[in-house]
Amino acid sequence: MPAHDVLIIGAGLAGQRAALAAAERGASVAIMSKVHPVRSHSVAAAGGINAAISVDDDWRSHAYDTVKGSDFLGDQDAIEVMCSEAPAEVMHLEHIGVTFHRNDKGEMDLRAFGGASMKRTAYVADITGQALLHVLYEQLMKHHETVERYEEWFTTSLLTDASGRCCGVIAREVRSGRMEIFTAKNVILACGGAGQAYKPTTNGLIVTGDGISLAYRSGAPLMDMEMVQYHPTCLVETGMLITEGARGEGAHLLNANGERFMEKSAPNKMELASRDVVSRAEQIEINEGRGVGPDGAGIYLDVTVVPRKRTLEALREIVNLGRDFAGVDITREPIMIRPGQHYIMGGVKTDIDGLTPIEGLYAAGEVACVSVHGGNRLGANSLLDTLIFGRRSGEHAAARAAAMPMPDLDANAQLQRDSDEIDAIIARPRDGRRVSEIKNELGEEMNKHAAVFREEAGLQEALQTIHRLREETGRAWIDDKGTVFNQDVLGALELGFMIDCAETTVVAALERKESRGAQYRTDYPERNDEEWLKHIDITLSDGAPEVSYSPVTFTQWQPEVRKY
Ligand SMILES: Cc1cc2nc3c(=O)[nH]c(=O)nc-3n(C[C@H](O)[C@H](O)[C@H](O)COP(=O)(O)OP(=O)(O)OC[C@H]3O[C@@H](n4cnc5c(N)ncnc54)[C@H](O)[C@@H]3O)c2cc1C
Repeated sequence: MPAHDVLIIGAGLAGQRAALAAAERGASVAIMSKVHPVRSHSVAAAGGINAAISVDDDWRSHAYDTVKGSDFLGDQDAIEVMCSEAPAEVMHLEHIGVTFHRNDKGEMDLRAFGGASMKRTAYVADITGQALLHVLYEQLMKHHETVERYEEWFTTSLLTDASGRCCGVIAREVRSGRMEIFTAKNVILACGGAGQAYKPTTNGLIVTGDGISLAYRSGAPLMDMEMVQYHPTCLVETGMLITEGARGEGAHLLNANGERFMEKSAPNKMELASRDVVSRAEQIEINEGRGVGPDGAGIYLDVTVVPRKRTLEALREIVNLGRDFAGVDITREPIMIRPGQHYIMGGVKTDIDGLTPIEGLYAAGEVACVSVHGGNRLGANSLLDTLIFGRRSGEHAAARAAAMPMPDLDANAQLQRDSDEIDAIIARPRDGRRVSEIKNELGEEMNKHAAVFREEAGLQEALQTIHRLREETGRAWIDDKGTVFNQDVLGALELGFMIDCAETTVVAALERKESRGAQYRTDYPERNDEEWLKHIDITLSDGAPEVSYSPVTFTQWQPEVRKY
């Protein structure tokens, strides 16, 4: 049975950074991923990573912008850690081989991004995530003697001992279907977000909330789950992302009258206001009949105002994306976009070292809620979050491992339970609904009622639907009855994870009776600091979500009216 000091579930940027940090501190490390590591969703990140590295910048300015972007729900101690450690982290990435874009003077170039008071986004064209992920993977190879890689292994549950300490996981090898117990002194969840609980989404098919649900089922609290980010520029048909880098380079948003409507809601920052503000402004244009396209469901993103040479150099992937998926040459004509689900600010509640309230269990990256993003994440702060808190989790877990023995737990009963559950899914008769049908309905329902605008009746309807879908999930059938690369059965498990994420999102959205950040309640349109300047925590209690509150941490910035 494999046993490790630090076992990391997830090999995106958060997981790989955690693995490297733990290995550098001498721990025996393992990293597990349900897909090959460089296919982790971090590879899709486009626009860049924030850090106050310009001589004119200061990390406190970055921190203030992040606090304001979060609509004052972000924890300021965590934001200070992230922003003050950012410059060294980005320079470290450069030193290990990331080919950041340089300007004519040969300095690292920085681009503008939403909600930022100055240019502070370092980038590699519009493939920043891919560039970072591949360089970290090379580094991981260098540590092959101390870092074991379990590639294409799917974690089915976390193991906890009688005192509630986390001491490993159960996982299934995707290639063979073999089930295995993994013992660990510490487990770091780095499983990414839950975008697939929505349809459409910018997130890939593998982003199914596994880590959030695994932690929740083990008794860990989730925090800020109501805060789901809709990105302002997604393709109308597919929901695919056009990076904020396009607006950072100067692209305009236009309604059907050809107006730059951002003038109304963000006269200073215009298209570079924070994402919640821009998405709402777009949705208002669409709802009030000033949208573009056949049924007025879109907005024009006009990249033609950016010099063509610059677009071809710095935004080359979205040039391809526009051509291949919308039939539009963005260097010559506007492209139709709309707000679309993109990111989840909430997740597993952690402290600034990634520790959850469950001993031995850490979380970092999009799966976690530290909370540095609060009510709304600033673009290019997520890659930073993955790396800073991935590293800190790895370091902390390695230090903790050095002072403790390997847990001695008989997990055979849990192994059997997980194996039986999988066998039962495979054996289901074809008299319920298909997994894919339920998943589609879930995503569409979330996109209808838990999106840019929300209100009580719609959220209640969504909750009822989720309860019905949970019940139907217990009977949902799949086609593949085999053991080799049975993605069908994993899809059924993922559906269960997404239902947990959707339920906790809707419960928290119902609970928060105000509008803040990404949560805009049309029935409670004002921000209400007196009653709601607090986090909503959700814990699984007797099989149902239980709500409690925790305070927001303030250090230097008091809440103020948020204007862009
Ligand atoms: C299109 C797009 C563009 C973006 N652009 C930017 C940007 O420019 N700047 C920015 O800051 N942010 C950006 N983001 C957000 C950012 O990319 C993500 O938030 C971040 O990369 C998440 O990284 P992660 O390490 O937390 O998770 P991921 O990279 O999603 O990795 C999750 C890992 O967990 C593994 N895993 C999950 N479940 C299991 C399981 N059950 N068993 C085993 N393994 C499992 C997966 O295999 C994977 O290895 C973008 C997001 C999208 C969708």
